[in-house]
Amino acid sequence: MSDILSSLGLEKVNPGAFGRDVIRESSGGVLVSRSPIDGAELGSVRCADAAAYERVVQEAREIFTEWRKVPAPERGNLVRKIGNAIRDSKASLGRLVSTEVGKIASEGEGEIQEAIDIADFAVGLSRQLYGKTMHSERRNHRMYEQWHPLGVVGVITAFNFPAAVWAWNSMIAAVCGDVVVWKPSELAPLTAVALNSICRSVARDIGFEGIFSLVVGDGPELGKRMASDRRIPCISATGSCAMGRDVAKTVGDRLGRCILELGGNNAVIIMDDADMELVMPGVLFGAVGTGGQRCTTIRRAFVHEKIYDEFVQKMTSAYRQIRIGNPLEKGVLLGPLVSQRAVDAYSAAITRIPKERGEILYGGKVVSGMPSPLYVEPTIVRAHKEMPLINEETFAPILYVVPFKDVDEAIALNNGVPQGLSSAIFTRDLKTAEKFLSASGSDCGIANVNIGTSGAEIGGAFGGEKDTGGGRESGSDSWKQYMRRQTTTINFGDDAPLAQGVVFSTAR
Ligand code: NAD
Repeated sequence: MSDILSSLGLEKVNPGAFGRDVIRESSGGVLVSRSPIDGAELGSVRCADAAAYERVVQEAREIFTEWRKVPAPERGNLVRKIGNAIRDSKASLGRLVSTEVGKIASEGEGEIQEAIDIADFAVGLSRQLYGKTMHSERRNHRMYEQWHPLGVVGVITAFNFPAAVWAWNSMIAAVCGDVVVWKPSELAPLTAVALNSICRSVARDIGFEGIFSLVVGDGPELGKRMASDRRIPCISATGSCAMGRDVAKTVGDRLGRCILELGGNNAVIIMDDADMELVMPGVLFGAVGTGGQRCTTIRRAFVHEKIYDEFVQKMTSAYRQIRIGNPLEKGVLLGPLVSQRAVDAYSAAITRIPKERGEILYGGKVVSGMPSPLYVEPTIVRAHKEMPLINEETFAPILYVVPFKDVDEAIALNNGVPQGLSSAIFTRDLKTAEKFLSASGSDCGIANVNIGTSGAEIGGAFGGEKDTGGGRESGSDSWKQYMRRQTTTINFGDDAPLAQGVVFSTAR
């Protein structure tokens, strides 16, 4: 591990945040990062105390007053250099992600690729922060809207995408003229330190180091502080629904802006005409990829009753091929869960399955003899639609397979949970696919056809409805949330007519 840290220019005990090195002096404790792979201590990061937090936010505010004046394409030029710097360290950063949170090497690198992709996207975007022009109803008047930088954006991230989600927010925010204060997950502080230091060192060359800063804590306290901080007009928070509810209340109370990316309980509908050659890889990756610890993980598979047995048999034999082990080793598809808490949540769900009249068809056990106690078997459950368990998000590789009779029933089941992140249907029938995508179809933020629920590309707006929080990040027009809209009317005539024909004059 020390080789990865040194290749990224990091110290074993890192000062943590980098607001003019203030965190070096912080009296906050030290957060030790341990790998879920084998429990090894990877490094330590100094936490920000209240005074350090103050100085970081103050510095961010000061920098913002200058950064917002820099033309957007120039801001894009900085983000281009950052993207290239991340590209140069892709292998080390990917390995760091995998080591710190336990995802397989290819997914660790894929996550860094996602950060590079969004940087590239943001560079182009820096020349496309378009406003509209409107036709005024008054003669010799012109109306248009323009987009201005918003200010300090507070980014709170979850453990499972310790790099990509921060990049979605911060690369876009930077070209929008904002500055970012990042509160990463307490389970992945080193990834945050590594990425933030890359950004700072690139931005230092143009005198804008403080655009990117970091406050590391050993729990949610700094996130709560950010949520209540009126100096931070926008909080982008990714994590559990419980966290999002708390953040939304606090930010709402001060009428701030929130972008919420919260829990999912994603389903796939497999029709009786589905192409099994597409179903099998799509569902396997969706259900087992990242150890079932993606917000978009497939947790519920609704399978047409005519092909239920065939699906279960094929899926079970695919699960038998999954190699569990050190996620950095070639051929391994399933690494450890991230923490003992996650394993406990898996075990609690497993215990409930027979009580709710479900049947474990494959898996269901914590794997013994591994380098840490955090490895679990991917699990397939014969489930039914009345099981309360299938309405919950257990952040582990448990797949509930439920039979259905027709597409209307399947869509109702898809929509019958509190969360609304991602969904998919496998069918060859155009009418069925379009029904699923129609206004009375899937109620999720993401609806796919003939691919699984996870593995979104950066070009689209990412996020979900209902308890998933309603936020949208990454591509499309998500950038608008990081800016403030200003509507302007200009009168280039010689009189002053009012809109709607209103007359208000002292002349008789
Ligand atoms: P978590 O809610 O435990 O923590 C997420 C982050 O929020 C951490 O940085 C944590 O310190 C902070 N936090 C926790 N409580 C807070 C509070 N009350 N106020 C402010 N900050 C607080 O989530 P996790 O276990 O790290 O991640 C898993 C969850 O995240 C899952 O529910 C998953 O679906 C969700 N997630 C959603 C998306 C998405 O885009 N929709 C992406 C990734 C993860």
